[in-house]
Amino acid sequence: MKTSDLIGLSRHRIGIDGAGVTTLIAFHECPLDCKYCLNPQALSSKGVWKKFTPKELYNIVKKDDLYFRATGGGVTFGGGEPLLSCKEILHFHKLCQDEGKRWKFNIETSLNVPGIFAEVLVGLVNHWIVDIKDMNPEIYKSYTDKDNKFVIDNLKFLIEHKAKITVRVPLIPNFNTESDVEKSVQTLQCLGITDIERFTYIIKTH
Ligand code: SF4
Repeated sequence: MKTSDLIGLSRHRIGIDGAGVTTLIAFHECPLDCKYCLNPQALSSKGVWKKFTPKELYNIVKKDDLYFRATGGGVTFGGGEPLLSCKEILHFHKLCQDEGKRWKFNIETSLNVPGIFAEVLVGLVNHWIVDIKDMNPEIYKSYTDKDNKFVIDNLKFLIEHKAKITVRVPLIPNFNTESDVEKSVQTLQCLGITDIERFTYIIKTH
């Protein structure tokens, strides 16, 4: 059975990445090259923490079944870019279905992957938490070294499918301004996004 490369797994999270108590499963690998990468181990070949099959992951996660059911919580897939591991997430979801588990599935993603990845998961993810960086393609490119066409296409796809979406819009020191953040927020609102979180990247200076 295929294994997933993880950079971490964190249990008993409350109110950080989805409703109720959650377990965060953080996958290795990311298509972006953010200048202030928050999880550099996701990019480095030496950054793999452990490898798990979906069944092994399921057996760890199910220890918190009681917490999930009591709080309406579940599993959050992050990374790195979890959409790149959509096959493993599908497999994990099937194991949950087979065992009658109705845990919430959240995903923290940049959405910067070909549309097929979002299409495969749209029916089973309860909450999409999107790190949008900046809606301006030039700012996006300067910060991530990639263009944001997939991001916009996938966002529109999720909106069309009435997915629950939270979009995080960061102020990125040296790359965008308050005014750029405001423009991103307005563009997102025009697309129909209502749940928008602004925050500021904290940059270590030493
Ligand atoms: S999306 Fe996240 S993991 Fe990927 S390069 Fe950016 S900060 Fe790092």
